[in-house]
Amino acid sequence: MQSDTVRFSCVGCGVCCKGRLIPLTLAEAQQWLIRGHDIAVILEAFDESSWPRSSEEFAHARGRSVSVHCGQTQIQVIAVFAGRALEQCPNLREDNLCGIYEERPLVCRIYPMEINPFIALRQDNKACPPQAWESNDILCTDGRADPALEALVIQSRQADRADASSKIAICAQLGLNVASWKDNALAVYFPPREKLLEAIHSVKSTLEEYPGCEWQVRVDDSSLRELLTASAVSLAANESADYIFHVL
Ligand code: SF4
Ligand code: SF4
Repeated sequence: MQSDTVRFSCVGCGVCCKGRLIPLTLAEAQQWLIRGHDIAVILEAFDESSWPRSSEEFAHARGRSVSVHCGQTQIQVIAVFAGRALEQCPNLREDNLCGIYEERPLVCRIYPMEINPFIALRQDNKACPPQAWESNDILCTDGRADPALEALVIQSRQADRADASSKIAICAQLGLNVASWKDNALAVYFPPREKLLEAIHSVKSTLEEYPGCEWQVRVDDSSLRELLTASAVSLAANESADYIFHVL
């Protein structure tokens, strides 16, 4: 059987460091803030209507999430802390190379490989120019990265699971309590840097420390609103100045 080998070598164009949010582990987010840069917080919710509870997709997403009360039911919420690089990453140098190369985040070491095991690597989804894919270096074979890269992917997934409850507790502490619905939209907060840093320093590891947080879901699509209302999910108003709502 013929193997499917993807060849790749970074050409240092810096395109992947521009016009995006950079997902970070909690420790990386803290370092990012200490360096004086801003973090975006993205909240996404889902339940077993997103995937069957017995599926591997549900298990993967549940591992990155926390179960919270929402209206008369429980939903799962994932918090993503991401470095703000909407124009360009604050660490990108004028020569398009990384100014913190030795300390760059895991996701930057892994790119363009996918971290989510249910997303196939596709060249046309990536920012890298054609010449980067003309290398002799092997990135992955049959979807599996080389062992060193695979170890980074595993490390990233482990951090996602280990940080999940602390990140949700931080959001609860800061009053970031409206999530988007997975694959429908993104609710993106830009909390003040000092407040977020303080919340990271002082976070208790469990949500029980923040029992007063009332979670809600923002959905603008009327058929999805009906579906979630029938499931007793508490829905937020269709407008807010607290976060940016980006429909997918
Ligand atoms: S930290 Fe470095 S590699 Fe990562 S996005 Fe910023 S400039 Fe690019
Ligand atoms: S876009 Fe691709 S080739 Fe360009 S710097 Fe990023 S990883 Fe390297």
